[in-house]
Amino acid sequence: MSQSPLRRGQPRYDWVFRNARIVDGTGAPSFIGDLAVTGEKIAALGEPGTIPPGAGESERDLSGMALAPGFIDSHTHDDRIVLDAPDMLPKISQGVTTVVVGNCGISLAPVTFTDTPPPPPMNLLGGAEAYEFPTFAAYADAVARKRPAVNVAALVGHSALRIATMDDISRKATDAEIAKMGALLDEAMRNGAAGWSTGLFYPTNAAADADEVARLGRYVSAHGGVYATHMRDEFDNVLASIDEAVSTARNARTPLVISHHKCAGVHNWGRTQQTLPHIEAVANGHSVNVDVYPYAAGSTNLRADLITDTYPIMIAWSRPYPEMTGRYLIDIAAEWGLDLDETAARLQPAGAIYFQMDEADVRRVLSSPLSMIGSDGLPHDDHPHPRLWGTFPRVLGHYARDVGLFDLETAVHKMTGLTAKVFGLENRGTLTPGAYADLVAFRPDTIADRSTYEQPTLPSSGIEWVMVNGGMSFQAEQGVEERHGRLIN
Ligand SMILES: [Zn+2]
Repeated sequence: MSQSPLRRGQPRYDWVFRNARIVDGTGAPSFIGDLAVTGEKIAALGEPGTIPPGAGESERDLSGMALAPGFIDSHTHDDRIVLDAPDMLPKISQGVTTVVVGNCGISLAPVTFTDTPPPPPMNLLGGAEAYEFPTFAAYADAVARKRPAVNVAALVGHSALRIATMDDISRKATDAEIAKMGALLDEAMRNGAAGWSTGLFYPTNAAADADEVARLGRYVSAHGGVYATHMRDEFDNVLASIDEAVSTARNARTPLVISHHKCAGVHNWGRTQQTLPHIEAVANGHSVNVDVYPYAAGSTNLRADLITDTYPIMIAWSRPYPEMTGRYLIDIAAEWGLDLDETAARLQPAGAIYFQMDEADVRRVLSSPLSMIGSDGLPHDDHPHPRLWGTFPRVLGHYARDVGLFDLETAVHKMTGLTAKVFGLENRGTLTPGAYADLVAFRPDTIADRSTYEQPTLPSSGIEWVMVNGGMSFQAEQGVEERHGRLIN
């Protein structure tokens, strides 16, 4: 806080930013204005000149730049990386100030592994040593002690709950097991979780039926939490999966987020023309949104049931063959003289990038008023999908400015105000006096992603600086300077 002497009648602020293009996160038209910050909060906002000259302890002229709420990454697997690499450079360098962790049924808490390694997809968060949090409170405490550069909003994963409480996860949970999982969910929600997630597509979660999910969801709705789901099927049965997700959420009385909405597989291309109206129709007043990343390729474990010659598959990591990372499966198969299935089996355990989507579908989902931007980046992969480093500038630069899918205000809304509302993040996501000063200054004319499938870890360009909870945390020239993030809900 400023300790400078006050001149009578004149406010003093820690920071004053002048002549910025104010994009306030609500989707409203932008305007040129000034914004002041004191402590952790936005203290004033108005037209140029409303904040007296010299009122800021530090002042910056933002002519030519946009000033927006810090971006909220609605879909991440950053549970462990916020502790291991708390500078969070891949995210804060994109303007991200909050990450939603614990998606797809996968979360670090509340589960530990003793003698067995975490089964896929739990290994997307790192090895057994990563899972050291038997309760959500223990994880919350670790986040508080590390103080990452970005805020963390945490979901509890259904796979984590099942592994923590069931001796056999290949069946539906019994009443007693549901009660145990419910107690863990209740503990999590009381200690700051924002909601929970399922990954019904995954073997650790697939045996749970809609009844098990709805009964657990009620422990979350009791605390006002949200439900996010990686649905059972994003391929041929995507419509049935949407029906299941919406009816389960309605049953549990939780708002619903359909994760990384897509229609995967070549013969399903174009079907977002069906799915998006279908979601709105079945939602019928219930709160339903989707998250989406701005790329036509997905990424997860290398899975036998996803091997195909109908689209390219790139290896993101391989435990036995790290030298094959970044190469295409079909090229490795040719080199080894094996078929695709045999090649994939030999690479295991491994992760992959699947070029499984249609660009027109990606654009349709991005353009939908239901969609929020979420990177789904995998920070532990050796050769990650470029979404980890590029998602937010790609939406602002490529899709909003260059392709013209929507205007800048809409793009920012999909990564700030809408996301904060859906996840119930209070006093975040909009530029409003009294809200937390999570801010990003960027150059709308030049902002661009630079990460590619070939070079996936290149930082974006056009982000000038990022403030988290009122602390100047990242600057383009200096990188990460301070860390001010915390667990939020
Ligand atoms: Zn997922």
